[in-house]
Amino acid sequence: MYKYYSIKNRKKNLTAIIISVIMAIFFMFISYFSAQTQKQLLLMILSTLLVVVLAYYYLSYVPSKKWKDVLRKPFPELWKDILLKNVEFYVELASDEKEYFENRIQYFLKTKNITGIETEIDDKLKLLIASSAIMPVFAFPEFEYNNINEILIYPESFDEEYYSGQDKKILGMVGNGAMNRMMILSKKDILSSFNGKRTTDNVALHEFVHLIDKKDGIIDGLPSILMNKAFVLPWMRELKKEISKIKDRKSDINPYGMTNNSEFLAVASEYFFMSPKRFKKEHPKLFKYFSKIYRNKRFK
Ligand SMILES: [Zn+2]
Repeated sequence: MYKYYSIKNRKKNLTAIIISVIMAIFFMFISYFSAQTQKQLLLMILSTLLVVVLAYYYLSYVPSKKWKDVLRKPFPELWKDILLKNVEFYVELASDEKEYFENRIQYFLKTKNITGIETEIDDKLKLLIASSAIMPVFAFPEFEYNNINEILIYPESFDEEYYSGQDKKILGMVGNGAMNRMMILSKKDILSSFNGKRTTDNVALHEFVHLIDKKDGIIDGLPSILMNKAFVLPWMRELKKEISKIKDRKSDINPYGMTNNSEFLAVASEYFFMSPKRFKKEHPKLFKYFSKIYRNKRFK
C-alpha cells in the first residue's frame, strides 16, 4: 500500500529545512547560556539535535495543501464508471490501490490545465489523459510532472506548424521554445488508444514517458528516476537487440521505436502498459526489464 503522505513537493522540503535550522540555532543558543557544566551542555546539544531531526522529519512528511485538498474531495462515482469502462490498468488494481490512483488523478487534474483548441474537452478525455500520465509513475509516489503546466488538445493529428487535419502526421509532442512547458495531443488518437480493444498504442502515455525521460535534463531513453546505474548496461544491450529485431521485421513493437533509444522506450512503454499480458508473452525478457524500471507488480 502506498502512503498518501509521502506526496510532498520540493518547496515543502525547503521550508522544512529552514524551520529546522532556525529551531536548531534557537535551541543551541538557549543550551549555551543555561547549561552549568560541560556534561549538561553536551546533553542539551544532543537533545536539540534530536528535536530538530524529528521536526524535519515531521515537516517534510506533512502533505502539501494541494494534496490535502485532493484527499478531502470525494472522487465522483461517474468518474469511477468512466475509468472502469475505459482504463484496464485501473480495473486490474486492488481496491485500496484504485483509491490511490483516483487521488493521483485528482492531483494531476488540479495542477495541470487541459485546453481544447477548436475541440470540446469532456470529463472522459480529461480522465484518459490523467490516467496515461499516472500509469507509468504509479509506483513513484513522489513523482510530479513539474516540467509542464498545460496540455493542448487538437481535434486530430497535426504538423510542425500546428495545423490539424487527417493527413497530418504528428499525434503528440512535448513542446520546445515558445511551446515550452506544454504538451500537445490529438484527441482522436487519445480516444482510439482506449477503444476497449487492448491496443498497444497510447499517444498520451508516449509523451508522458518522454517527460519522465526529460526530468534529468536530456531525452535519451535513460530516465534517471526509473533507472539505477547498475541496470543501464544490460538494459541497453536488450534495447539494441530488440531494435535490430524491429529492423528485421521480427518484432511486433511499433517500428517508430527504431528512431532512437528514447523513442524505443516510449513506444515499448505504450505496449507494456496497454497490453501487459501480450507484452509478457511476446517479450518475456523486456517485460522483466520494464517491470523493474516501472516497479511493476502486475502479471509477474
Ligand atoms: Zn516520441
